[in-house]
Amino acid sequence: MGEEAPEFLFGSFISETQDYQTATTIGDKIYVVGGVGDGAKSSISIKIFDKFTGTWSIPTVLGTQPVPSKGHSAVILNNDRILIVKRDSSLDDFAWFLEVDTPFVKEHKKILGTEVVAWSKGVLGNGPKPIVISGPSGVGKGTLITKLMKEFPSTFGFSVSHTTRAPREKEIDGVHYHFTERNVMEKDISVGKFLESALVHGNLYGTSIEAVEAVTDAGKRCVLDIDVQGARSVRASSLEAVFIFICPPSFEELEKRLRARGTETEEQVQKRLRNARTELEQAKFPGLFDHFLVNDNLETCYENLKKILALDENFGASYESFMQNIAPVSHTISKTDSKVLLRIESNEIEAAGRNSYVLDVSSLKGGASGRTRGLNINHIYPSEDSLNDIKLL
Ligand code: ADP
Ligand code: 5GP
Repeated sequence: MGEEAPEFLFGSFISETQDYQTATTIGDKIYVVGGVGDGAKSSISIKIFDKFTGTWSIPTVLGTQPVPSKGHSAVILNNDRILIVKRDSSLDDFAWFLEVDTPFVKEHKKILGTEVVAWSKGVLGNGPKPIVISGPSGVGKGTLITKLMKEFPSTFGFSVSHTTRAPREKEIDGVHYHFTERNVMEKDISVGKFLESALVHGNLYGTSIEAVEAVTDAGKRCVLDIDVQGARSVRASSLEAVFIFICPPSFEELEKRLRARGTETEEQVQKRLRNARTELEQAKFPGLFDHFLVNDNLETCYENLKKILALDENFGASYESFMQNIAPVSHTISKTDSKVLLRIESNEIEAAGRNSYVLDVSSLKGGASGRTRGLNINHIYPSEDSLNDIKLL
């Protein structure tokens, strides 16, 4: 047994100072999460103390990191992640998960051969499901998506993929694609920045976590235009989505459209047509796609697409009123099985009789390196009776 962990490490606490830290013990390890500095230069540091070997290590940190606040509390959940509740933060930024032993983290420990932790932002409610649209090249996916964005600009947002293929004449970097170098993209894929990636028609294409988060953070429903391999990866990921496959009315018509678009060389057209046959075959894989649409008449297909989306709409509950009630405040937290009791320390809120909230973490979905959804929050009126219902640990 090596070096002893300093005494302060046992138990979590909040300090009033700018530099603060919490220590959470899971098995043989103590995860020390600290905020350092203030303003633009601030950051959150993570150190791991191994009680068995008595050594400290600095893990590889994956995922988008939270902006530090003036303090935080830490609670273990399921022995594989730590819920970090930020102090003085609004409800769209107060809950974060530091994953320490989830499947995503385990996978990356293996790939990277280092200690790994991953951040995932906690989001209230389930939010609208992203929409994955696949189909052979030239079938009209882009045309349908453009129509959707034009008609509902504040409802839908496009997930801008990365690709190593060269831009077409009218394509804009950052709008149609993030055009990128292969070695850069491969490196980003290896450190978990991509939700999925695939070799399509000889080039690398991929959806970054950031691309999907940028859309959801803007409060929009994300639309992904990806190939069938990508759709399979997303199906296997933690992202719950609606999967739609667009079919051509015939192979001849597909070929006609692809040629009429005039964006590919003859060799590329041939390659895309060959791949189209494979994609049409693979799309039949049971349970992969939820809906199939034939894009014969464009207007009819578009109307059918809108019908599907209306069916699957699942906009999360609005928590704006909670937002107004809670933020900005400081807090203390305690946990029962799958409920976290948040005590809000604010005179104003106490006066209004609403100083305790129950954060329900029993239905979490998703996780690193995307968002963790399914958080629910309810306020409880602080009568002695209602507080007694919750057994504090
Ligand atoms: P994808 O994004 O699936 O590769 P595009 O949206 O670029 O396909 O469409 C390929 C070509 O077919 C474009 O020139 C587009 O204008 C045309 N197109 C799309 N849908 C139809 C349709 N229903 N009927 C005829 N042409 C279509
Ligand atoms: P294009 O080169 O015509 O823009 O796209 C070629 C194919 O790549 C299309 O089938 C499109 O759906 C697919 N694609 C575009 N972006 C992505 C992505 O991020 N991931 C995957 N897997 N496929 C993509």
